[in-house]
Amino acid sequence: MKNIINLKDSIQYLKGVGPQRTGLLNKLGVKTVEDLIRYFPRAWQDRSHLTEIRDIESGAITTLCGLVRMRSTFRVRSNFNITRVVLEDNTGRIEATWFNQPYMRTRFQDGQRVMVHGKVEFNRTWRIMNPECEIMEDETENPIHTGRIVPIYPLTAKLTQRVLRNTIYTVLSRLPRSLPEIIPPTVVRKNNFPPADRAVNDIHFPPNFQARDQARQRLVWEELLLQQLAVGRLRYQYQQSEGTALKRDGARLEKFISHLPFELTSAQVRARDRIFHDLASSRPMHRLLQGDVGSGKTIIAVLAMLLAVDSGRQAALMAPTEVLAAQHYMNIKQLLDSCGVNVELIVSGSPAPERQRIRDRLAGGEINIAVGTHALIQPSVVFNHLALAVIDEQHRFGVEQRAMLKAKGQQPHVLVMTATPIPRTLSMTVYGDLDVTTINELPPGRRPVQTRWLARADSRMAYKQAAAAVESGRQVYVIFPLIEESEKMDLKALNSEYAHLCKMFKGRKLGLLHGRMKACEKEKVMVEFRAGEIEILAATTVVEVGVDVPNATVMVIENADRFGLAQLHQLRGRIGRGGHEGFCFLIANPTMAEGKTRMEIMTRITDGFQLAEEDLALRGPGEFFGLSQHGLPEFKLADLSRDAACLVEVRETVQEIIRQDPDLQKPENRELGRVYADIYGASESRVRSG
Ligand code: ADP
Ligand code: MG
Repeated sequence: MKNIINLKDSIQYLKGVGPQRTGLLNKLGVKTVEDLIRYFPRAWQDRSHLTEIRDIESGAITTLCGLVRMRSTFRVRSNFNITRVVLEDNTGRIEATWFNQPYMRTRFQDGQRVMVHGKVEFNRTWRIMNPECEIMEDETENPIHTGRIVPIYPLTAKLTQRVLRNTIYTVLSRLPRSLPEIIPPTVVRKNNFPPADRAVNDIHFPPNFQARDQARQRLVWEELLLQQLAVGRLRYQYQQSEGTALKRDGARLEKFISHLPFELTSAQVRARDRIFHDLASSRPMHRLLQGDVGSGKTIIAVLAMLLAVDSGRQAALMAPTEVLAAQHYMNIKQLLDSCGVNVELIVSGSPAPERQRIRDRLAGGEINIAVGTHALIQPSVVFNHLALAVIDEQHRFGVEQRAMLKAKGQQPHVLVMTATPIPRTLSMTVYGDLDVTTINELPPGRRPVQTRWLARADSRMAYKQAAAAVESGRQVYVIFPLIEESEKMDLKALNSEYAHLCKMFKGRKLGLLHGRMKACEKEKVMVEFRAGEIEILAATTVVEVGVDVPNATVMVIENADRFGLAQLHQLRGRIGRGGHEGFCFLIANPTMAEGKTRMEIMTRITDGFQLAEEDLALRGPGEFFGLSQHGLPEFKLADLSRDAACLVEVRETVQEIIRQDPDLQKPENRELGRVYADIYGASESRVRSG
C-alpha cells in the first residue's frame, strides 16, 4: 500500500477497494482517484445538529451521541431477530435497535462512544430504529456518516453510501493538497472562490451549507471553463484555417433569384446576406442557420449552394432521412434545372452501377450539387472541389458525421441548419463553436395550425375533419408512433392500423410510409403524395423532419403522448404550409401528469422557441429535445438553467484568454493548458506543448 496517492492512480489499489468494488465503481465511470474525487454528491443531509437525549422527540429524524451501556440480540422467530444497544449521554438513555443485523452487537464494546442518526420513537421506552451509526474512537475524531453535513451519492446496485463515503473521505484526507488552479486569479478574487483543493473537499464534506455553495460555484465554473475552452478553441482553429473565397461572378444567381416564385422574407434576406458575406471570405464559414419549421431555410441553402456552383465549385447537402434527401433533391433539381446545374441524389438504397456512375461524375466535377443521406460520407464518395457543405436538420447527426462531410473538401464552408430552436444558454454550449443566424419570421400568409387534443373515444371527430379536408381537395397525414421501427411487432400493429384506416376511408386513395421500406418504395410513395395521387398518408415519424407538401392541411397523431414536445412540433410543422388553414389532432389518453401537460402545451403554443423554453422547464436540460445524444455535453454539476449567468461570464473570460493566449502558453494559463490537454489532448494536439 502506497502512502501518498496520486490523482492518476487507479482506484483498485486503494485501501478497502479491492476487485469487486473496483468493478462497481467502474460502472459509475470512476476509474482513477481523480474520477473518484470528482464523483460529486447528488444531495447532502444535515446531520450536524446533535440532540441531547432528554430533548429527543418522537417521530423526529435525529442525530445523537452516547456511550454504549448494554448490548443484546434476541430471536423473535426463526427469520427475525433484534439487536439492541443502549446508549447513554449525560441527560438520558435511549435504545438503538437493528432488525436482522446480529453482527451489530459485536461491532460495539461497552463504554464506546457512538454516534447514531435515524428516526426516534417512543413505545414504552425511547428507541432509535435502524440508525446509521458510527463509532468514534476518541472525542476529537471527525465523524463521516453522522454528526455533520453528510454527502449522498448516486449509487449502483451493491454499492452502499457508507462504502463510497468512506472511500472518498479516505482519499481526500490522504491526497497531497495540489489540485490545479485553472481559474484565472482575477475571477477567483472577484467571485471569492475557495481554492481548488478546498472546493473539492467542501463539495463532499462541507463544514456548512455556505461552504458547499461556494465550492459548487467554483466547480461549476471550472466545468464550464473547460467546456467553453473546447468550443472556443475549435472556433479559433476554424478562424485560423484557409479555405476558398467564393466570388459571385456567374450571372446564374441573379437570374435565379429574380425567377423565384415568392419574395424572400426580410429574415431570409438577412440570413442570405450574412451567409454570402461569410462565403466571400477565405476563412471557412461555420454557421448555424436556425429557424422554426416552415420558416424557409431550404431556399437559403439553395442560394448558398448556387453561389458555390457559380464560382466553379461543388456543394453538398446532407439530410438525415432518405425521404427528406429525396425531397430536397427533387426540389433543388426543379429549381435549378433551367440554370444548367447538375444535381444528383446519393443514398445507399440506389442500385450499384448507377451509384458508381454518379460517383465518377462527382469525382470528375461534372456534378455540381450532391444531395444525399449519410451515404454522402462513405469513403467511396469523392468530390472534385467541395466548397460548401450543408447539413440539414443537423441535430440528427453526430459531431463526427459533420466532420466527415467537411473532410470531403479542403476546408469547405459549412452551413448547418436546424428547426430545433434552443434557448440561448444551450446554444452557447451545444453550438459554441458556430456562428448563429436565426430566421425569426414565417413567410407571409401562414396561419397558425389549430391544435386539438382528443381522447381516444373522441377520435372520430378528427377523422371527420380529415374526411372533409380530403373532400375539398386537401391532403391528410395520419401518424402512428413506432418507438422502435425495427421491431416486427410494431410493424404488424402498423399494418393493421393501416388496414383499419383503409376501411374507414373506403374509396379514397391511401398510402403507407415507414422506415423499414426500401428507399425506392419510400420515394415512390412520397412522389405520389406530393402529386396528390395519395390523399391520405399513413406514416411513422419518417415524415417528422423537413417533409414539405403544402397541400396537406390535416394531421392526426395517434397516441400522441408517446412523443416529446420537439417531435410533436416537428410533426405538426408538416401542415399549414400552404395558404390553407391547418388542423392537428392529438389523439391521446395520457396516464401521467407530464403527458397531459405536454398535450395541453401543444394546443396552446405554436411558436417553436416558446415550446423549447417550456420543454426545458418541463424536462430539464439533460433530456431537453433529446439533445444529450446530439452533442450536448453532460455536465456533472452545472445546470444550464440555474447557471446561465455563470456561463455568460465564463464565455467572456474564455474569449479573452483565447484572444490573448490561444495556445495557453503564458505562465498564468499553463495550469489550465495542462488540464485542458489532459482532457482533450487526444482530439487536439496543438495545446499539448503548453
Ligand atoms: P424549413 O425552414 O422548415 O426547412 P422550408 O425551407 O421547407 O422550411 O420551407 C417551407 C415552405 O415555405 C416551402 O414550401 C417553401 O417553398 C416555402 N417558402 C420559403 N420561403 C418562402 C417565402 N419567402 N415566401 C413564401 N413561401 C416560402
Ligand atoms: Mg427543412
